[in-house]
Amino acid sequence: MPRFLSVILDVDSTLSGIEGIDWIAARRDPAVARSVAQLTADAMAGKRTLPEVYGARLEIVKPAAAELRELARAYWDNVAPGAATAVARMLAAGVRIDVVSSGFHDAVAPFAARLGLPPDRVHAVRVDFDGQGNFASFDASAPLVVQGGKRVVAESLRLRRPVLAVGDGITDAEIRPAADAFAAFTGFVRREPVVAIADFTVGSFAELERLVLASGE
Ligand SMILES: [Mg+2]
Repeated sequence: MPRFLSVILDVDSTLSGIEGIDWIAARRDPAVARSVAQLTADAMAGKRTLPEVYGARLEIVKPAAAELRELARAYWDNVAPGAATAVARMLAAGVRIDVVSSGFHDAVAPFAARLGLPPDRVHAVRVDFDGQGNFASFDASAPLVVQGGKRVVAESLRLRRPVLAVGDGITDAEIRPAADAFAAFTGFVRREPVVAIADFTVGSFAELERLVLASGE
């Protein structure tokens, strides 16, 4: 039997090597890209709260529907080495995998689908567009845009235990009380405050797979 029966995965800088909002911001003016990247870094380092950063970034970037479709492809182009294989093997072993992301649902869901994860396993932020596909609004009341929101979502899933939460950021570590363990993913970025409070540190999806399936141990 696998060591963990359920796994909660982050997307940005975990399943894929990019930060979605930064990727879109990079298509704007360089000053815009810099301010958004700084807001993201501050949020992930725990220097600013997520709701504070989330609204500010969206108001600057205003992602269009077409850009989220392109972002889905960019996620796939930058998929973590070994992630597709590891996800397939964990699913084959009967492990339930949910993606819990503060990223955009319209970009995360098509990416997750390519990893074999259906829409009902994807929990992300929904954005509304106007008739021309331009950004109109986002769901500011969604749990994933408030502090500790990933934990609220994780609890609502009523997953089979033991549950392992995995991610690179402080918002992923916040899931820990709703899980049995938290693994800091350092394959793209190593954030020391996150590593410091993690039960495990994994640098690759091959390592994560070994941890979850406990093979060879
Ligand atoms: Mg992340």
